[in-house]
Amino acid sequence: MIQAQKGTKDILPTEVETWRKMENAAVELFRRSNFKEIRTPIFEATELFARGVGDSTDIVNKEMYTFEKSDRSLTLRPENTAGVVRAYIENGFSRMSPPVKLWYKGPMFRYERPQAGRQRQFHQLGVEMFGVYDAAADAECINLAVQFLKAIGLADLDIEINSLGCNKCRANFKNALKNVLKNDLNNLCEDCQYRYEKNPLRILDCKNPDCRRIFQKDAVQKVIYSDFICPDCQKHFDDLKRYLDSLNIKYTVNKLLVRGLDYYNRTVFEIKSNNLGSQNAVCGGGRYDSLVETLGGPATPAVGWAMGMERLYSLVNKSELPLIDAFVISENPSEAFKLTSELRENGFSVEFDYSSKKFKKQLDKAAKTAKYALIIMQDELSSNTVTVKNLLTSEQVNVSRDKVASCIN
Ligand code: ATP
Ligand code: MG
Repeated sequence: MIQAQKGTKDILPTEVETWRKMENAAVELFRRSNFKEIRTPIFEATELFARGVGDSTDIVNKEMYTFEKSDRSLTLRPENTAGVVRAYIENGFSRMSPPVKLWYKGPMFRYERPQAGRQRQFHQLGVEMFGVYDAAADAECINLAVQFLKAIGLADLDIEINSLGCNKCRANFKNALKNVLKNDLNNLCEDCQYRYEKNPLRILDCKNPDCRRIFQKDAVQKVIYSDFICPDCQKHFDDLKRYLDSLNIKYTVNKLLVRGLDYYNRTVFEIKSNNLGSQNAVCGGGRYDSLVETLGGPATPAVGWAMGMERLYSLVNKSELPLIDAFVISENPSEAFKLTSELRENGFSVEFDYSSKKFKKQLDKAAKTAKYALIIMQDELSSNTVTVKNLLTSEQVNVSRDKVASCIN
């Protein structure tokens, strides 16, 4: 038997109900907040991710699904910020008056080790907001994430924020970090030794316990907690905190928060749950003021986030598949089909028995799936009526055909 691939999952009809509730909550919130939906392709030129996500990241180095077609290297999107930025540039959105506020949802693909909360095909809901340098945009994005989580019943998650500074102040921090870690270089894990050269900030993201012990050393802590960011970046971060305070959003500053992608500057944030085990982040995001330019567009500030829908799914209360409105019972399939079709056209969810089984069998099936049984046996056929049986209370009435719709409302 051919099975679903490792790290992929079928989302079953009983689960889709809950997924759709989350998606509908997102649609409604984005409508109110004036974010517009964008749907970009699932595969893009490999180079988009190499340049956009950064070729020193785990995502680009180890996790991409890349394939060749007609001499082109293509990649299934591992995330969607690069794709949205490409679309933003290609479709001339930079000529629109800012801010441009976009959202998306859909599958992402990463060749990771599957485990609880980590799949190879997973779904993200995300927002990208272009054109605003002010920290109000960062606060709006964080606020949106908080409101979405509240709307799906997840009110008390932990929000962590940090500022990575701009290129200039980050360079000072990188140097200081490299300096203080120089003597411990051989004690860092293999990944971190690579990061030390390519992207030293990412070392702070490492989950390896040996690396984390090294971060605890006084000298390293001193660098981590030093005020390396320049006055402009500090002001931006203070503004963000003020906006969040005024919105009553609780957060903690986590100086180790650097995020896995290369394109962030200034604000980064994550939202975590205590109920998820080690894969505990449901949302990650930040500001990326140079990405639009890196990908060939005009210099444009931007900020955004992405949420992992599977992780949210595991946290929310599950909805049951609802009963359909009515099930038509008849020994005459063509009569049953006719009534079914009429009611469906009037907006009801209706089913009938395709093989005209015994009355009792059909009634059993109706009781399992529907709120009402609509019975058209011999008596009803000859009087051109329908017996409407409420399957929850067992009450029943006999009515003329044109009254059925008003009985099951
Ligand atoms: P993590 O540290 O959990 O690997 P990340 O930093 O790689 O997350 P992002 O790329 O920022 O995550 O993606 C945003 C969100 O998408 C994450 O917070 C998480 O909820 C979800 N996510 C990321 N990778 C996966 C995956 N392989 N399976 C399921 N969800 C994922
Ligand atoms: Mg990851």
